[in-house]
Amino acid sequence: MDLNDYEKLLDGAYEKIPENVKKSSRFEIPKVELRIESRNTYITNLNKIINTLNRDRRHFLGIFLKKAGTMGEIRGQQLFMKGIHKEQALDRLIDQYTKMYVLCKICKKPDTDIQREGKKIFLKCTACGAREEIKEK
Ligand SMILES: [Zn+2]
Repeated sequence: MDLNDYEKLLDGAYEKIPENVKKSSRFEIPKVELRIESRNTYITNLNKIINTLNRDRRHFLGIFLKKAGTMGEIRGQQLFMKGIHKEQALDRLIDQYTKMYVLCKICKKPDTDIQREGKKIFLKCTACGAREEIKEK
């Protein structure tokens, strides 16, 4: 068997893994890609990030912009942010959002939904069944 056949075999095996397992085992938030223009910042891969987080875009933006301490809005496929922002700082904010609103507190998998009950918000995990209250500061 040559190397090409072996790789084909691996691809085949990978295809057979159910979609949800593939998703959680390969969960990785894309790093922000920025474009600075006239002293403002554009996140050019916003859709990719939101798709990975699998959260409501408005929910994400509300929290993200507040933490970044700036104003912003969607412009086409990009997120416009007032002022110049550093990649590392924005990645860190996204990381904080992910830990709070996406990853299960118990099993650390991203297969979760946000549930609202009055003023309380819960993170319901479809992987392990945990349901933890999200305590917003
Ligand atoms: Zn869980």
